[in-house]
Amino acid sequence: MRRLILLAWFLGLGFARGDWEVAQIDGRDYVSLASAATFYGMAAPSASGAKKFAASGGGRTIEVELDSREAIVDGVRQWLSFPARAKDGAAWVSRMDISHTIDPAFRPDAVKGMRPVQTVVLDPGHGGHDNGASSRYGYEKDFTLDVVRRLRKRLEAAGLKVVQTRNSDTFIELERRPRVANKISNSIFVSIHFNSADWKPTANGIETYAIPPLGAPPSGQDAVQARDREAELGHALEPVDFALATTMHHALMAKMKVEDRGVKRARYVVLKDASTPAILIEGGFLTNPGDAARIANPAWREAYAAAIAAGIIEYKKLAEQGVKPREKKDW
Ligand SMILES: [Zn+2]
Repeated sequence: MRRLILLAWFLGLGFARGDWEVAQIDGRDYVSLASAATFYGMAAPSASGAKKFAASGGGRTIEVELDSREAIVDGVRQWLSFPARAKDGAAWVSRMDISHTIDPAFRPDAVKGMRPVQTVVLDPGHGGHDNGASSRYGYEKDFTLDVVRRLRKRLEAAGLKVVQTRNSDTFIELERRPRVANKISNSIFVSIHFNSADWKPTANGIETYAIPPLGAPPSGQDAVQARDREAELGHALEPVDFALATTMHHALMAKMKVEDRGVKRARYVVLKDASTPAILIEGGFLTNPGDAARIANPAWREAYAAAIAAGIIEYKKLAEQGVKPREKKDW
């Protein structure tokens, strides 16, 4: 019975074979990292540090940490929906994470539902009376608009149409922003922000957000809540959003020498209300002295815009030609 259920589940992903070890942990389906390694053509996992297990082979690598939601998949950090767990002295990961994070991270070219990319809707975070975060050098709302203007030039030079949710220092409600993209066929939505953590000035680096899988908590929340089971407009494209986020994050981590804070999940309004592929990038912390100085530097913002443009063009090749995106190590 268990095998039949599994077969149907994996066939739903397009898997043709599979001999997966399954167990109930924390009241949900988990699979052993060993059976995932076998399926993906990697050698058997081994301990790689205190509470850490790693596997590699066939051009793929994964490292998980027991009781943690942070994993490293093909060289970049991925936030799992549920923590990896120990059972029988081995590492296990949730079925949800195999199908919604690990599989699409390994095989973005197998994700269904991508459409051509003709228009990129760029969303500079905040504006008007909403300054966003701030550093001694300036406001988030001004840095985001500056990055978007630089990015726009690069995308237009590459033959893409660009629409901005704002191109001046004006306040735009969150709900209106994704609607701009929803009205344009063959568009993607990219929201540009900078981060802050007044309580932790050491926090630094870049993180890329996609909507969480339906039924999974956001990266910043431990337990599943009722709203996590409510389908939003954005959930129709959740695997596509994740493929876009992961493609982007590999490009960013390859080109920007900053801390990798990972591909994270959040039910931000601009992600959950989008009916086009949508991501949000937090390009560093205005509350961190190092990040704040970098972000204040126009040359850094130009390089950052170039990295985002590269990620978008890489996703366009994936969506239109099925070309597997370059990973961090490939750039
Ligand atoms: Zn922001």
